[in-house]
Amino acid sequence: MRAIFSVPALALCIAQLCMAQVDPRWKPNDPDRPLPPVIEPGTASTQDAPGHAPSDAVVLFDGKDLSQWAGEDGQPAKWKVADGYMEVVPHNGYIHTRQPFGNCQLHVEFAEPAPPVGEDQGRGNSGVFLMGLYEIQVLDSNQNKTYADGQASAVYGQFPPQVNASRAPGHWQTYDIIFHAPRFDKDGKVLYPARVTVLHNGVLVQDNVELSGPTGHHQRPPYKPTPDKLPLSLQDHANPVRFRNIWIRELGEGQ
Ligand code: MG
Repeated sequence: MRAIFSVPALALCIAQLCMAQVDPRWKPNDPDRPLPPVIEPGTASTQDAPGHAPSDAVVLFDGKDLSQWAGEDGQPAKWKVADGYMEVVPHNGYIHTRQPFGNCQLHVEFAEPAPPVGEDQGRGNSGVFLMGLYEIQVLDSNQNKTYADGQASAVYGQFPPQVNASRAPGHWQTYDIIFHAPRFDKDGKVLYPARVTVLHNGVLVQDNVELSGPTGHHQRPPYKPTPDKLPLSLQDHANPVRFRNIWIRELGEGQ
């Protein structure tokens, strides 16, 4: 019999089936269906104080220390920590989590330097690099013109945000990111690409977009096979951007 789907297409269908369709093992309203775990949902942040992470999150930065982070050389991260935030120390290098992450829900808060310094890509530039490869841009995009796929909450070089939901410099802003890592077959071919959803200050700006590969400057490099999890990194773009209240929830394949 002639195959209707190629193997990668079939694998993609299976992956999408796993992710999106009703589980046929359970009847509607089945009392035997296992209940989800109970968690404490955490609290929202205000401009004055960060909220609390959900009880099942890994807290990556609670305002006190950088113990969850390392510098590019693997040594303790050397960014500044003060008054509940961390701040990029220009030319100190990127920092990355000691723990690797793949599929996740990530919460990050940042504040741009006030008063603003520089313009275009030179104003408050940093970045959240999922798996160290896929950048959600951090930039002061409040009255600061730059190219569309390089402004705040862009998937850098690939997807501009749907709207510019930036707050003024000096104000705390939030990213809530849902990320699904790419998967590769045993030959290193892409079974399905990375996908990301981003809310910037609570506003949907990236809706389950499919990444073309790692993000890059003036380039769209193709995927190379990677492990399912890699460390998350924050960018040193030589601007003193601040971060606070960073937490992550790991997601399973079906979530
Ligand atoms: Mg950046």
